[in-house]
Amino acid sequence: MSTLSGFTVPKTQTACVVPAIGKEIEVRKEHPVKQASELKPGECLVKISHTGVCHTDLHAKQGDWPVKPMNPLIGGHEGVGIIVAIGENTENSPVKLGDRVGIKWMADSCLNCEFCRRGFEMNCPHVKLSGYTVDGTFSEYVVSFTNHVTPIPDELDSAGAASILCAGVTTYKGLKVSNTKVGDWIALPGAGGGLGHLAVQYAKAMGLKVIAIDTGDAKEKLVKSLGADAWVDFKTSKDIVADVKAATGGAGPHAALVTAAHQSGYTQAIQYLREGGTLVCIGMPDADIGVNGFWTVFKSIRVQGSYVGTRQDAIEALDIARAGKVKVIFEQKGLADLKDVYEDLEAGKIAGRIVLEVSKEENTGGRLGGKQVN
Ligand SMILES: [Zn+2]
Ligand SMILES: [Zn+2]
Repeated sequence: MSTLSGFTVPKTQTACVVPAIGKEIEVRKEHPVKQASELKPGECLVKISHTGVCHTDLHAKQGDWPVKPMNPLIGGHEGVGIIVAIGENTENSPVKLGDRVGIKWMADSCLNCEFCRRGFEMNCPHVKLSGYTVDGTFSEYVVSFTNHVTPIPDELDSAGAASILCAGVTTYKGLKVSNTKVGDWIALPGAGGGLGHLAVQYAKAMGLKVIAIDTGDAKEKLVKSLGADAWVDFKTSKDIVADVKAATGGAGPHAALVTAAHQSGYTQAIQYLREGGTLVCIGMPDADIGVNGFWTVFKSIRVQGSYVGTRQDAIEALDIARAGKVKVIFEQKGLADLKDVYEDLEAGKIAGRIVLEVSKEENTGGRLGGKQVN
C-alpha cells in the first residue's frame, strides 16, 4: 500500500449517513475510515475538501427512483479532494498520491465491455455510482477509483470546481449531443438555475446563441450577464412558444436542453423547435414527458436522452472552466448543514448551487473556479 508521505489516515471521520431509505440523515462523528491497507488494487482514498449538493442526492435519500440506492448510504457526487492513499498492487494509475481530483457521479466502470469501449461508460453493467451504489462525498474521506477520478486543473479552486463534476459535466455533455454547430440557436429552459446557469456559459463557449427561459428580474440579469442572447420570462410571456420562435427570427431554435421535471418543458420544446431540431433531455422525472408523436415525426425532431458524462467529458468540462469561460455561482455551507440543505431542496427554495466545505484545505489550488455568493 502507499500513503501520502507525512500523512496519517485517521481511524474515524465525520460523515453524513442515510441510515435507511427515506430516513433523515445522521451526522456521525465516529464513522470508520477505510485504511490504506484495506484498499483494493485500483482504489484510492480521497480526503474531501469540498462537495456540491445535487438534486439527485435527495432522490438517493428518498429512494424514489426506479433504480434503488444502497443503504446505509453516504450521498454526494460532486467532490474535490486530495488522494492520500492508493491500494496496493494498483497498476498503471493515471493519478498519484497528493493529486487533487474530482469525484463524479460515475465512480467506476469496467472499461472493457461494449458500452465502455463505445464511450457509454455510464451504461456499463458494472458501473459504480458515487453516493448511490457506493459511498459518496458527504464525508471527510471517500474511497474512489484511480481510473475514474478526474484531475482538477491547478487554475481552479476546489469550491468552484466541485459542481462542474455533476452539474457542469451533465450540461456540457447534453450540449455536445445537441447536434448544433457554431452560430446555432439553443433554448435553455431554467437558464437561471443550478444547471441552467452553467448551460448558458457552456453554450456560449461552444459558439451557440442562447435563448434563456426563466422568470424574474434577478434571473434575467444573471443570464444576460452570462451572455444569453435572448430572454423569455415564462410567467409574463403570453405565448412562450411564439416568443421563443420570434427570438430566432421565426424558425425556432436548433436545439433545446431540458432539465424540467414537468411535461410542459418537453411539450413546449417540440412546438418551438425548428424542423430537424434536437430535444436533449437531461432532467430525470420518473414520468412520461408527453412528447407528441405527430409533431416529432412531422418536424423531423430528434429526441435525445443524455446521462451525465464520461471521463473525457469531465476533463473537457473542467478545461473550459480552467480557461475562465465557465464559473459556478454557488453558496458555501458546512458539511453539518446538509440536513437543512435537503429541507430547502425539498421545499424548492434553492436557486443556484450549494457547495459544502468538508475540511480545510492545505493546498487551496487556483482562484479561477467559481463565484461565491454568500
Ligand atoms: Zn448530480
Ligand atoms: Zn464496462
